[in-house]
Amino acid sequence: MQQQNHPIATEDNVASFQLTSFHFGSPGTGKKVYIQASLHADEVPAMLVAHTLKRELERLEAEGRVQGEIILVPAANPIGLSQVVQGIPFGRFDLANGINFNRAYKHVADDLKASLDGQLGPDAQANAALIREHARRSVAGWETENATQALKKTLLGMAIDADIMLDLHCDNEAVLHLYTGTPLAEQVKPLAALMGAHATLLARESGGEPFDEACSRLWWELAAAFPDAAVPMGCIGVTVELRGEMDVRYALAEKDARALLQYLARQGVLDLPLDPLPALVAEPTPLEGVEPIAAPHSGVLVFLKNLGDRVQAGDAVADIVNPVSGQVTTLRCTQTGILFASTAHRHLLRGMHVCKIAGQEAWRTGSLLGQ
Ligand SMILES: [Zn+2]
Repeated sequence: MQQQNHPIATEDNVASFQLTSFHFGSPGTGKKVYIQASLHADEVPAMLVAHTLKRELERLEAEGRVQGEIILVPAANPIGLSQVVQGIPFGRFDLANGINFNRAYKHVADDLKASLDGQLGPDAQANAALIREHARRSVAGWETENATQALKKTLLGMAIDADIMLDLHCDNEAVLHLYTGTPLAEQVKPLAALMGAHATLLARESGGEPFDEACSRLWWELAAAFPDAAVPMGCIGVTVELRGEMDVRYALAEKDARALLQYLARQGVLDLPLDPLPALVAEPTPLEGVEPIAAPHSGVLVFLKNLGDRVQAGDAVADIVNPVSGQVTTLRCTQTGILFASTAHRHLLRGMHVCKIAGQEAWRTGSLLGQ
């Protein structure tokens, strides 16, 4: 294992930060895998999974079982980890400007559509190598304007040419679920099965330029831009939501790390005996099918369903109880699907997020990720 330290923002007289990555295996000997944890710095379960992965990868490397290159960034957001507001960790948005740490990554496809014009042919492998070379160059040319952009560039610089990119997050309260690109649905199914994902949410473009799409979307956009060339889906990019913020347990971290390693073994990156593939908990569904439910007025939130429950359109999901007026409003879903995530707050103001249901049918348009 090799450790690399990346200085982030090193101006005299103001706070400076350092990002650390761990490198296993050897570049060029097989697939490249990039795994990062807690890009939203207050999403802690991912860091414990990364800690477990690091221990296991060190052992597997010592046994000669790593067949490729694996980069692990166990705490991807030192800037966000340092943000505490009146005793409360605040790791989702950059306090300096309010920008979500998982948005606004450089989308290199626009550069590549120009720089690769006339250069791709019928050889998918040669095309993939050239696309990765141009993608690295495009990220290297990202002119950053502040510390957070420098961090984003450093992370993307390590991930942009990966065959597999796993971005480990969690929701406020949730069952385990995944976000990935629609063209990657089949390749992600074994990961969903191994992890016991209750939802796999698919989009070709979710809006806002999150990290996973910065790594994966260029491939299907280039395939569409160059229809006469053989452009493979060169990166399996997945955002893995490891349940809720409070779900920090050794048993869960061991289970999740094992599932991730099993996926890498199935991808030929680790030489491990394969566990039998469990049945999928749920088939992938469109991100455009997710129903967000919001509070219609202020009050105490009382759930009538549990996370992971299958709900039918029209089912009562939660009540909002105003203790002063006595008004009780029952919130019903309009979609049939799985209740997979909710707020961790139990008193809400009008318009605040209550929960999300993974519906089977696409019905929404526009930006799909919310805040
Ligand atoms: Zn997150």
